[in-house]
Amino acid sequence: MRDFSSDHRWLSLNTATVRKQGDLIHIIEACARHGIRAIDPWRDQVAAVGLERAVRAVRHAGLELSGYCRGGMFTSDAARRGEVRDDNRRAVDEAAALGASCIVLVVGGLPQYSRPGSVTSKDIAAARAQVDDAIAEMLDYARAAKLPLAIEPLHPAYAADRACVNTTKQALDICDRLDPGHTGALGVALDVYHIWWDPELMAQIARAGRDRLLAFHVCDWLVPTKDILNDRGMMGDGVIDIRSVRAAVEAQGFAGYSEIEIFSNDWWARPIDEVLRTCIERHRTVV
Ligand code: ZN
Repeated sequence: MRDFSSDHRWLSLNTATVRKQGDLIHIIEACARHGIRAIDPWRDQVAAVGLERAVRAVRHAGLELSGYCRGGMFTSDAARRGEVRDDNRRAVDEAAALGASCIVLVVGGLPQYSRPGSVTSKDIAAARAQVDDAIAEMLDYARAAKLPLAIEPLHPAYAADRACVNTTKQALDICDRLDPGHTGALGVALDVYHIWWDPELMAQIARAGRDRLLAFHVCDWLVPTKDILNDRGMMGDGVIDIRSVRAAVEAQGFAGYSEIEIFSNDWWARPIDEVLRTCIERHRTVV
């Protein structure tokens, strides 16, 4: 297992962590001040400053991208399938322009929440089948662009509105169905916030192996959690044994960035330099 205690070379910042403190250019400048070498930007943050300007800023700062957030939201009614496909193809194009290592997929829940305006449905099995089909379709396009797709299983609390893929096993089953040859084109983004509770987690990480482990996201689970979306904790402030999960993915050969992704009303209210200083300190002592 890599020693993170003396530097933060393998820290990546998911830019949603400081999305309320400034735009993407401001965030990239802050990363440069703190010696952060990698980010994972969100599509809306890129769009807000313009793709070309974002590409220039990333190159100028010498940043790597540990991912691009996000593709997916595949579930919709029939009238919106074309919109879903085109939107995800644009995500691939943007990720390629930015030089991202993968696209993180949040697959969508029930159609009316993933693609508002869709006909209401309670059929989660149908939603899951739709996710399989849509990933298969996107995979062809992403392969051509040489952009791996990383399915992020989300905590079951998000099954209705964000993702009906809720366990690492479910995500890996999709990978095995759609990419049986383990080509590296399809894998998982494991976020400790979503998976720490799963009794099968360690066995599934071992099953994943190096070629399926495309991204690793960290934050913490606070007790009590006051808001299921926007009350994530800073690493060390909650109950997740982050280091044991990192040990497990690294035992499989994962050698990428440890990406900090904290959606938090608390941390969004603090100055960006304080947030980044704390991220670096916790990366060294807790992650
Ligand atoms: Zn994540």
